[in-house]
Amino acid sequence: MIRHHPDENLLLEYASGSLARGPSLVVAAHVQMCADCRSHFHTLNNLGGSLLNGSPAQPLQANAFERLMQRINQTPDKVAEKGEDTPIGEQIDQDPVLEHLPRVLYQLLNRNPNRHWKSLTRNLQICRLKSGQNDYEVAFHRLRSGSGLPKHDHRGQEFALVLNGSFSDHRGIYGRGDFVLCEPGQVHKPIATQDMDCLCFSAVAAPVALTGISGLFLNPLISFCPG
Ligand SMILES: [Zn+2]
Repeated sequence: MIRHHPDENLLLEYASGSLARGPSLVVAAHVQMCADCRSHFHTLNNLGGSLLNGSPAQPLQANAFERLMQRINQTPDKVAEKGEDTPIGEQIDQDPVLEHLPRVLYQLLNRNPNRHWKSLTRNLQICRLKSGQNDYEVAFHRLRSGSGLPKHDHRGQEFALVLNGSFSDHRGIYGRGDFVLCEPGQVHKPIATQDMDCLCFSAVAAPVALTGISGLFLNPLISFCPG
């Protein structure tokens, strides 16, 4: 059961197309997994359409069509309208971790044939993805079952979605489909539950900062690769 959702404002930004591409991918994936947010998304879309229908016509700029097509090509597939949890179910690159993804993430994987997993620590791996923007690092993270991340601070917003397994921090437990937003200045120490590795998809606006004495030595070494 999904317990954590994007708030009203974030869903509205996503529905109106004004949310940045990185966070949009995370929200789109959540909406594909979450019937409640999908229903809400439909309502917001219909409301937006009604408002547009009631607006007086405006003259178009000369390159309006080209700009519209560019926007469509850059926008994450809003197959939220279709709404399947995920039609995938096939194994990608012999990597069983990346099974049963929301369709928008499957499409992103197809555009990243050269992706690879990299170990950040003994228990944490990252698979960075190119998503056609320069503001957010977009990636999968895999945290080994039962292990934790060092306590860290967020220097920019982090939008994340749990895809497999679960983790907990001082705010609660997050399982498959749960949406997680960390604001700058929020400190937490996520720990994966014992039963399976925890797979998350995230868009991060700035590198995290380890707290405590270890941060003095390790923070300058933490890489950040928006794209
Ligand atoms: Zn939801």
